[in-house]
Amino acid sequence: MSDTKTKVEKSEAEWRRELTPMQYAVLREKATERPFAGEYEHETRKGTYTCAGCGHTLFESDAKFDSGCGWPSFTAPAADGHVDEEHDISHGMIRTEVLCSKCDGHLGHVFNDGPGPTGLRYCINSASLKLQPK
Ligand SMILES: [Zn+2]
Repeated sequence: MSDTKTKVEKSEAEWRRELTPMQYAVLREKATERPFAGEYEHETRKGTYTCAGCGHTLFESDAKFDSGCGWPSFTAPAADGHVDEEHDISHGMIRTEVLCSKCDGHLGHVFNDGPGPTGLRYCINSASLKLQPK
């Protein structure tokens, strides 16, 4: 299990070098990939989804469900404290932004219309994730 306390901090130039343009746009510039276009939307393999920026464990495939919203959706993070949630009032909407707690990379948003037991839907960009198949 990776250390959750130490932040990963890199310059924008370093991030640009290490990430693909799509990963950079999502993680560092809070872009949203086009719906139904992401790599993991229909992914069904078992495994752990880690942060594409820093490798932090974010979600388990067991929590993934098909929400039909066009992005990979999860009912809960892999562990408490692995994602940060922040109030986001951009684009004229009140949403809760989901960030990697280790590198502060933008992952997506969380909505309260998910299935039980959490009732939450973590709507996450494929570009911010990397699946480590089991
Ligand atoms: Zn990260």
